[in-house]
Amino acid sequence: RRVPEDITTLLSMTQPLKLRGFQPWGTFCDAVSNMVNNQLLPADGKGVMVALRPVPGIRVEQALTLCRPNRTGDIVSIGDNRLVLFLSFCRVNDLDTALNHIFPLPTADIFSNRMVWFEDNQIAAELVQMRTLTPDQWAKPLIVTSETKKVINAEHDGTAWRRIPEHYRLLSETTERTS
Ligand code: C2E
Ligand code: C2E
Repeated sequence: RRVPEDITTLLSMTQPLKLRGFQPWGTFCDAVSNMVNNQLLPADGKGVMVALRPVPGIRVEQALTLCRPNRTGDIVSIGDNRLVLFLSFCRVNDLDTALNHIFPLPTADIFSNRMVWFEDNQIAAELVQMRTLTPDQWAKPLIVTSETKKVINAEHDGTAWRRIPEHYRLLSETTERTS
C-alpha cells in the first residue's frame, strides 16, 4: 500500500521545534509563531514565553552570555533591551525550575523585570508587538556567545550546577627530568 504524500507534511508538523539557543529576532518570531499556530499541538500548552530586562549595569548582550538553554526547542533572542526566551512545552508553574536549569545564577540577580505569556492568544499578541522591531534594532550577541566556547566552566547535571574539572600537572616536565 502507498503512503499518501501528505503524511510527510503531517508528520513534520507534529515534530516540535528543532532549534535551540540564540536565534536572530526574526527567526525567533517565526519559530514561536509556527509553534503557536500549529493546530496539532495542545491549545494553550505550547510552552512559555518570558521577557527579561537586565538590572541596571548589565547589558542584554552580557545577560545572553549567561543564558544556556539545554533542551531542544528552547530558544532565545535579544532586542529592545530585553532577553526573550521561548521554552517549548514548559508549563507556567515550572518556569522557575526551567530558568534555574538555564542560568547559572539566580535570575533575580541578573534581571529586574519579567513578563510571561503562556496562552496562544497572549503569545500571538506579543509577537505582533515584537515584529514591529526593525532589523537595525535587533541586538547582536557578543562574539563570545556565537562561539561554542563556554562562558562559565560549569555544567548543569539535572539538579545543580557543577564545575567541570580541569587537569593540572603538579610537576612540570623539567622538574620530572631533573629528579
Ligand atoms: P533535550 O530535550 O534536547 O534535552 C537536552 C538536555 O537538557 C537533557 O539531556 C537535560 O540535561 C536537559 N533537560 C531538558 N529538559 C529537562 C528537564 O525538564 N529537566 C531537567 N532536569 N533537565 C532537562 P539528557 O537528560 O541527556 O536528555 C537527552 C535527550 O533525551 C533529551 O533532549 C530528550 O530528547 C530525551 N529525554 C531525556 N529524558 C526525557 C524525558 O523525561 N522526557 C522526554 N520527553 N524526553 C527525554
Ligand atoms: P516535564 O517536561 O514534564 O518533565 C518532568 C520531569 O522529567 C523533569 O522534572 C525531569 O526530572 C524529567 N525530565 C524531563 N525531560 C528530561 C530530560 O531531557 N532530561 C532529564 N535528565 N530529565 C528530564 P524537572 O527537571 O523538575 O522539571 C519540571 C518541569 O519543568 C518539566 O516538566 C518542564 O515543564 C520544566 N522544565 C524544566 N527544565 C526545563 C528546560 O530546560 N526547558 C523547558 N522547556 N522546560 C523545562
